[in-house]
Amino acid sequence: MIYGLNDVVIHRMRIEESIAGEEQKRIERGKLDTLLAWCETMQCRRRVLLSYFGEEAGGCGNCDTCLEPPEAWDGLVAAQKAMSAALRTEQRFGAGHLIDILRGKATEKVLQFGHERLPTFGAGADLDEAGWRSVFRQLLAAGLLRADAEAYGALRLTDSARPVLKGEQSLSLRRQAPRRRSKESAPAARRSGADVALDDAGQALFDALRRWRAETARAQGVPAYVILHDRSLLELASRRPASAEELLGIAGIGAAKADRYAEALLRIVA
Ligand SMILES: [Zn+2]
Repeated sequence: MIYGLNDVVIHRMRIEESIAGEEQKRIERGKLDTLLAWCETMQCRRRVLLSYFGEEAGGCGNCDTCLEPPEAWDGLVAAQKAMSAALRTEQRFGAGHLIDILRGKATEKVLQFGHERLPTFGAGADLDEAGWRSVFRQLLAAGLLRADAEAYGALRLTDSARPVLKGEQSLSLRRQAPRRRSKESAPAARRSGADVALDDAGQALFDALRRWRAETARAQGVPAYVILHDRSLLELASRRPASAEELLGIAGIGAAKADRYAEALLRIVA
């Protein structure tokens, strides 16, 4: 899914600023929420679309979430830090400045407002810039933050943010997939965030394994990650097991999966 934090802010502001009546704005907000939820979904996109039209379907095996299942992570603490950065700066700033504060960057603007003295300054150094943009985007998409059109897109907490801030509600976020570049500069290992490096043959094998996984998932009507995770495919591609026994040494492959898929996997690896 290629869309950014700014897209969300701009679309929200456009709705609020428009001269449409309140009823029309409510409809537009609802449409945007539906679209954003679709963008951030962890499920098969086709399935989500069809459910929107009242139809039930299994995983399609073809969409990006089927092919590269997103990982979820517990985003509660990150969300609380993001919200606290907004609150401590009186909800007067946009995501860029809040991210600078969280990452402990003493920019001119940070120093101008004395924000380097906030307890939140540097509290989010564990996430990089892209990671924080992804967090803010998802908080906006989930309606926990909103961009104030009258204050140049300053981020404000909504009423639904309160339980998250107090830790009364859990918050699962979607792990940001590293941005895909050309094939040379983005080997599979980097794409999926694993620390396995693949050579050209390994990369070809990894692609073949993914195609097999997509077909198998489609045939079974389940999401791809139910068949095998990317991590398992990467290990298969780099370690190239030659027997069912060696298969069991691959992360995510237990006896049941080895039983079921050994023949197909060993054939592809060979
Ligand atoms: Zn799908």
